[in-house]
Amino acid sequence: MELPQKNLAFVAVAALLAVFASTCSPAQSAPPPAPPSILDRLNALAGRKGAWTPEQLALMARLRDAALTDPYALTELRHLTDNIGPRLSGSPQAQQAVDYVAARMRALGAEVTLEKALVPHWVRGAESAELVSWPGQTPGTTQKVLLTALGASVATPAEGLTAEVVVVDDWQQLHALPPGAVKGKILLFNHKFDKELAAQGSGLNAYGSAVAYRGAGPVAGAGVGAVAVLVRSAGGADYRLPHTGLTDYVDGVPKIPAAAVTAEDADLLKNLANQGPVKLHLTLTPQTLPDAPSYNVIADWKGTEHPEQVVVVSGHLDSWDLGTGAIDDGAGVVVSMQAIHLLHDLGIRPKRTVRFVAWMSEEEGSQGATAYMADHAAEIANHIGAIESDLGADHPTGLYFAGKPVLAEWLRPVAQLLEPIGAETLMDSPETGEDINGLTEKGVPSFAPVQDNRTYFNYHHTAADTFDKVDPKHLNENAAVMTVLAYALADSTEPAPR
Ligand SMILES: [Zn+2]
Repeated sequence: MELPQKNLAFVAVAALLAVFASTCSPAQSAPPPAPPSILDRLNALAGRKGAWTPEQLALMARLRDAALTDPYALTELRHLTDNIGPRLSGSPQAQQAVDYVAARMRALGAEVTLEKALVPHWVRGAESAELVSWPGQTPGTTQKVLLTALGASVATPAEGLTAEVVVVDDWQQLHALPPGAVKGKILLFNHKFDKELAAQGSGLNAYGSAVAYRGAGPVAGAGVGAVAVLVRSAGGADYRLPHTGLTDYVDGVPKIPAAAVTAEDADLLKNLANQGPVKLHLTLTPQTLPDAPSYNVIADWKGTEHPEQVVVVSGHLDSWDLGTGAIDDGAGVVVSMQAIHLLHDLGIRPKRTVRFVAWMSEEEGSQGATAYMADHAAEIANHIGAIESDLGADHPTGLYFAGKPVLAEWLRPVAQLLEPIGAETLMDSPETGEDINGLTEKGVPSFAPVQDNRTYFNYHHTAADTFDKVDPKHLNENAAVMTVLAYALADSTEPAPR
């Protein structure tokens, strides 16, 4: 992600110069008044060029303050996570969540539609592994290895398989192995998640390089004759937690079982394999059932002047099954629900429609988003903005935007309103959210909260993604960002520049 502070500084300086030039016009004959402060100049600029009236900005402040204290988002998150639980694509809980969220939106008077999408229906089975032979083994013992099947993985035989483990740290080490070195063996990709990068706030970059092995590892392993692939978990947890996530098979390459081991177990396997042959017994019994019908939940808060123009405010409703999908992405769903809830409670009807979307199956290939793009292909020009929150619920520091650079200047009054909660930074980004990337590619200005993600990847896709990981104060700050931005986009004088 690029840091746009430099660009913003440019915009601010240019703007100040423009204001200064106009106040120093040679036509002025009276002695010049005391020069206005920088803040006054910026405010004057915002007032003159902003897309919102003072009344609209006051309304945004009310929405912000209401979001910071209203318990709705937290209450909804508690229900989604504790009462409904994990929401794996195609599961009964995912369907329950669809029905529940639809009913909650109907209760607010939103126009609710369930839009169909065919989604993967993968079911996790038993998953276990133990070392059965290694250097220094105490006779008659085994040693447990903690792992979890990757999403879409095929099964081992029901009784499991036993094979020697070959460890590589990266693609280069794999390619450097002699021919046949992996044939009939279990291949472990031991790429380390860059915790320092995550600690610096760039967790997404650390995740991106680790997840390459989770996605492509099984195909690469099958290509060199492996009987199964393990990957070191793509995440920063220190508590021996495996991180699941989707893997990608490719037509024409044998599908082999695939699982993520914990970072600790990856270290163990590497250390022992360096000393001599290590054999692992691996049992995975997931099933891939036929694709199942499921739904995106769409709830329109209809606009008064241009109901056909929509602003999408969204998160994804499906989750992995190990935890209860609190940070990924129950939080994104409930902060989006809060936008509709507060517009309802404060009796606000913007010019354009605010469209809440709870996306289905983001985790298993974004089938919900793909169906939406197909179903709404003729209405893309009427999508005047899209927002998705899918990077947790920690403290927001600003907004990502994808689109024309001029969006930064256009958004400045909104960012100023978010300054009291520390969310005023505007950051240019090529992408804003997996489910809205299709809209971004079609030229729709898109947005996401910039969240502090320093601990996000510790829990991401693990059994520890549970309700308690969400700080109520931070959740409300995110709700404020989503609500204010959704309203701002839906009620601006002119649509956001595109
Ligand atoms: Zn997610």
